[in-house]
Amino acid sequence: MSEPFDVVVGGAGIAGTTSAYYLAKRGARVCVLEKGEVAGEQSSRNWGFVRQQGRDPAEIPLMMESNKIWQGLERELNADIEWIQGGNLITFDTEKEQAGWERWVATARGFGLESRVLTRAEIDELVPGNAFECRGAVWTESDGQAEPRKVTAAFRRAAEGRGVEFHTDCAAFEILTESGKVTGVAGERGVVRAPTVVLAAGVWSSRMLRALGLKLPQSWIRGSVARTTAAPIQSHAATWTGVAYRQRGDGSMNVATRSADHDLTIDSLMLFSRYWREFRDNRGAIQLHLNRLFLDTFWSRFTQAGLERALTRHRTFDPAPNMKTLNRVLDQVRRTAPGAHDVEIDFTWAGYIDMTPDMLPVLDRLRAPDGLVLATGFSGHGFGMGPIIGRLVSELILDPEPSLELHPFRFARFSDGSTLRPHAIV
Ligand SMILES: Cc1cc2nc3c(=O)[nH]c(=O)nc-3n(C[C@H](O)[C@H](O)[C@H](O)COP(=O)(O)OP(=O)(O)OC[C@H]3O[C@@H](n4cnc5c(N)ncnc54)[C@H](O)[C@@H]3O)c2cc1C
Repeated sequence: MSEPFDVVVGGAGIAGTTSAYYLAKRGARVCVLEKGEVAGEQSSRNWGFVRQQGRDPAEIPLMMESNKIWQGLERELNADIEWIQGGNLITFDTEKEQAGWERWVATARGFGLESRVLTRAEIDELVPGNAFECRGAVWTESDGQAEPRKVTAAFRRAAEGRGVEFHTDCAAFEILTESGKVTGVAGERGVVRAPTVVLAAGVWSSRMLRALGLKLPQSWIRGSVARTTAAPIQSHAATWTGVAYRQRGDGSMNVATRSADHDLTIDSLMLFSRYWREFRDNRGAIQLHLNRLFLDTFWSRFTQAGLERALTRHRTFDPAPNMKTLNRVLDQVRRTAPGAHDVEIDFTWAGYIDMTPDMLPVLDRLRAPDGLVLATGFSGHGFGMGPIIGRLVSELILDPEPSLELHPFRFARFSDGSTLRPHAIV
């Protein structure tokens, strides 16, 4: 490793990689440590929706800015990332849901977003031949989709082109501090010194912070996804209608659903008081499982040796998809999506999603220890935010103030008595 570095980044998902890119673009010397492969966990396993629609109001300005970046990203990175600005369509079934969406649309319009509520007839005009069972939908035309497997890889190449060093199969074990200031990271291949550390470790972030006495309430859920064979292309709207799907440029589809699996870990018990309301409200959508993960990750919460063992044993989390759920999803997609009646599942995968109690990320520069920047907790929608996360992390480090309001994303909200409830509709 060619020290000195200005910044060490722990974790090369989309958050860590875009952070490295935007920092290097502004002249910083950056080293990225990744325990497995670049984007091996959430950032290559997501659906690929890039949406402003349905977000917590606090996130809307960030996503609007991210959306602008996405529009020019293929040019900026000189790469094919399968960006398609095909819009985002979410159907609703009941009067109550409609009222909720109408309120959300009014808020979004206040920010200048063009979202609108569609009638059943307008849905049919937009997606001819659909058999959606719904009362209406909400539509944001400027939303899009991109291919997760390509996006972080493209940011990595562009970052390397600006001198960023990526070290894969190289876990960050401990964030080092001296007299209240960050001094670097003790990594699997030795100490890397830098006055600033960005922690972007996805589901592992809370465990990395415990050694510093910092408590990040973070839970994991397992989402399953299937890629289908190709169907004639009908619409590039990323669609959420009981099931979620998007059709790619080659006609194949990513299909999934909101219902997810929760593999119990020791955090499930220790954070129960933080999550029980969400669990109760989404009881039908979450299945609980007790499996190997409980023992595999148990000691990583309590001891440094246990953490180091878990980080090197789980180089890349590759959990099993829930095939029962995916077969049900496939059945519904075939019945309701136009032109999709003959598609088959081509391949499947799953990924652990990191969730915070209010489903908002942590994007913050801490004072104690000074020099630690957190970019984590993206709660199932950090792919779309990827580009703006990177830019904001670079601003948190290089500028007196970031260009957007980050107060709702402060780390202190977990301990300053704030009431934390999700305000996102999806
Ligand atoms: C099934 C599924 C569907 C989703 N759908 C969408 C969607 O459609 N749209 C959307 O916007 N978002 C979606 N998301 C969420 C999105 O993928 C995540 O919010 C985003 O990828 C998080 O990026 P990240 O960089 O924070 O985390 P990750 O991608 O998980 O990256 C963290 C990285 O840090 C590494 N790491 C951890 N600890 C250490 C350590 N100690 N040392 C070194 N490296 C370490 C890990 O190996 C990993 O590579 C989905 C997620 C899943 C799983």
